[in-house]
Amino acid sequence: MARTINKAWHEKHRMPKNASLEEKIEWHTDHAKHCNCRDSKSHLLKLKALLRNKETRQNG
Ligand SMILES: [Zn+2]
Repeated sequence: MARTINKAWHEKHRMPKNASLEEKIEWHTDHAKHCNCRDSKSHLLKLKALLRNKETRQNG
């Protein structure tokens, strides 16, 4: 599948420089719906795994 970039969406949705894990997940979830310039879906899996690790550490 060819990579395409939704420039208009990126103009409106800038990733904050020091985005939290939660903000990144939100951004990539939205990104995957609107744009195809990078592999957000596999990136999301990694971010969600990181979030799970973080929560496990906080609780345990
Ligand atoms: Zn994009």
